[in-house]
Parts: sequence; structure tokens; C-alpha cells
Amino acid sequence: MAAARRIVIENCSIATVDADDTEYPSGHLVIDGDRIETLGAGRAPEGLENVVRRIDATGHLMTPGLVNTHHHFYQWLTRGLATDHNLFDWLVALYPTWARIDEPMVYAAARGSLATLARGGVTTAMDHHYVHPKDSGDLSGAIIRAARETGVRFTLARGSMDLGEKDGGLPPDFAVETLDGALAATERTVQEHHDTSFGALTQVAVAPCSPFSVSTELMREGAELARRLGVRLHTHGSETVEEEQFCKERFGMGPTDYFESTGWLGEDVWMAHCVHMNDSDIAAFARTRTGVAHCPSSNARLAAGIARVPDMLAAGVPVGLGVDGTASNESGELHTELRNALLINRLGAHREHALSTRQALRLGTYGGAQVLGRAAEIGSLEPGKLADLVLWKLDTLAHASIADPVAALVLGAAAPVTASFVHGRQIVEDGRLLHIDEDAVARSTRHEAQRLARIAGQG
Ligand SMILES: [Zn+2]
Repeated sequence: MAAARRIVIENCSIATVDADDTEYPSGHLVIDGDRIETLGAGRAPEGLENVVRRIDATGHLMTPGLVNTHHHFYQWLTRGLATDHNLFDWLVALYPTWARIDEPMVYAAARGSLATLARGGVTTAMDHHYVHPKDSGDLSGAIIRAARETGVRFTLARGSMDLGEKDGGLPPDFAVETLDGALAATERTVQEHHDTSFGALTQVAVAPCSPFSVSTELMREGAELARRLGVRLHTHGSETVEEEQFCKERFGMGPTDYFESTGWLGEDVWMAHCVHMNDSDIAAFARTRTGVAHCPSSNARLAAGIARVPDMLAAGVPVGLGVDGTASNESGELHTELRNALLINRLGAHREHALSTRQALRLGTYGGAQVLGRAAEIGSLEPGKLADLVLWKLDTLAHASIADPVAALVLGAAAPVTASFVHGRQIVEDGRLLHIDEDAVARSTRHEAQRLARIAGQG
């Protein structure tokens, strides 16, 4: 069959992140429409037809696009607050402000978060949105619209909370939904927006927030709903010692046993953090193929601890990387998390053997695709997979003296993105977003952050 529209990229190093970690010191890749047609060493084959663009990528490293597996976009409006708190104190400090968000705020925050991710090489983003104040508008619709405008591939994890203070939960009562309300709204969001096709640009997951903000009924019925609808499940788990204590006091067991008892372990589940896991917890995740979103900067910011990523990988647990919400990771960047994952894990038990540079890159690409259930489509550069890829500029002052391009990307300064493609369509050129106006996004996020601070200040 004749190619519809070919783009040829050549003269760059390529880290494919395929099963053998194949790398080409100087190679080429051909995009045909939305797919990768071919790639390999040296220049592209001669005589290709319908080549609409030829990119000389000398001085660059090409990798699969980065995949973010945990985030809370709305927090873009509450960055830099409660800066010296642990998780529970930080949540209690911020819930009253978060409970005042509305649709224009969430839309602006989503654009700010997405723009920052995309500029830094993210091609697949996700948002775990669990704050749905009464009459706040169509928040899910606003977030999905922002993702479409940015041009990234996207998973909305439709979150929920129904365990307010009066029922022994952490969030204030005015910030939670009812059990039935949350389930019905989640089902509606899946039916409206979830695309099951190969190469889907928008998917939806069922995502009650955490054991300390969600009733056991919502955990259990949320899992049943997801399986009835055939979508994935996401939540926070084993983030802090305080959460572990909460689970032991309230349920008489640790978080992993609690998740198992509510139907929350399985290959269709991925969980953020998983910091406080013992050997049998890790074995349970491995046995059930439950995925993990590792969020090293957020875990450090909230003094949560160091997740046992090397032990998880050795056991066969799928692990991806997450920025987490920007109220606990103000940079909002995923490419810097490659470095932080490596550094923070080397401070743990395995020291210098904890993670290699290649493993760090794998966490941010293929590992992310695995935990989002999309490893057959994205996460590595292979013929037939979707053309989601990034060209990192490594020939300037910041990186030019580092011979190994993967070491330069992971250990060096945050590398500039010369080009980023999603579904064969370019979304970033020379560090600028092509489909949304970055300066307008900056202005609107400032305006909405000030409006939220004003409204929250009025109580
Ligand atoms: Zn989170």
C-alpha cells in the first residue's frame, strides 16, 4: 500500500527502548501517517515516495515520547503553598482552597500543566482529577478539551472522594461527593469520552482518590464499575507512614491487603507512589501485575520516603514515572524525573546499583506505557507502533561534552526539545508549543490562580 505522508528523520542517535534496548549511534526513522514505518542505522532508504518533510537531526537523541502516569492538573493554581508539610498536613492545609475550584480554573490549570509537560517531551499525559465541588461545571470535559488543544495523547482518571471528616476521612465534608453521585458521574465520563480503538487519543480510567478519602463501598463499587465498562483503575496507595497507620487502625490491615480485599490488585490497575511496601506487598503486585506510578520528586517534597523501585522491577512489577500534582512538585516536568528517579533510588538500599540511566529512560517511556495499558501502541520506537517521539537537543554547552547521549539526557541538565510528535503530528518545535499560545496560557493561569486565592480567602 502506498504511504500517505512520510516524514523522514535522520542523522540522530536513537534509543529505541525496545525489548533489547537497541540503540543506533547515528540512525533514521520514517513516519508514515500516524505510525512508525521503519527505523535503523545510517541514513533513510533512498527513493521513498510521498516524503513531505525531511529532518536533519544532527546533534540530537531521539527517544520514544515520555509518558506521564500520575498528575493532578488543577494543582497548577496552588503551587508553592504549604511548602514545609508532610502529606496529611499539606492536604488539610489545601483542601479548603481546592474545594473552591470551578470549570474556568480547571481548564486554565490543565492547559498550564499540559503545556509544561509537552514542552518537556511528554507525548502521553494523564490527569487524576478527584475534586468535584457541587455545581463546578463540566470539569472532565474542560480537562479533555485542554488535552486535545495541546495535542498530547491523554488518559483522564476520573477521580472521586466520598469520605468526609464526619465519616472519619481526611477531606472536609464540603469537598466530597456522594457514593452514588460519584459512581454515576464516573460512568457518564467513560461513556462520553473513552475511546477503545488502537491509537486512541483519549481514554478514561476509574479513579477513587485514596483509602483515607474514599469509602470502602466506593473502592469496591468503583472496581466493579471499571471492570463492567472495560476501563482501567487508578488510585493512590502506600504513600506515607500516616496512611499505613490509618489503614491499620480503620481496616485492621495495611494498604496492599486493603486494596486486595476491595478488588484493587490486577493487571488493569495502576497505583501512585507505593512507597511503604514490604516484600509480600511487592510480591502481591508482581503476582497480579498491578502497576506503579513512581513519583520521586513529590515523595521527596512531602517527605514520604523512597519507593523500592529496584525491588519492584526485579520482581516484575510494571513501573512508570509520574510528576504528581504540581502543589507537591512545582516544576511540573517529567524529563527531570528521569534524573530524580535515578538519584533518589541510589540513596536507597541498592545504592549505585539501584537504577541505570537506561532503566531510568525505560521507566519514563515503556514503563509508563505498560502501566497505562498501552505498551502495544506506544513507549518504544518500533515499526507499526504509533509515531510518538521526541528529538532532544544535545549539542549545546549543557550536553555537548557528554559522549553517551542517554547519560546526557538522564544525568545532564533538562535537555531542550527540538521536536516532539504525537500520532505522527508535530506538537513542539524548538521548545515552543505549536498548537496553543504559551504566553496566553501563562496569563490565564495567573489570572485564575489569583481568582481562586481571592475566593478561597473569602472563606
Ligand atoms: Zn497524587
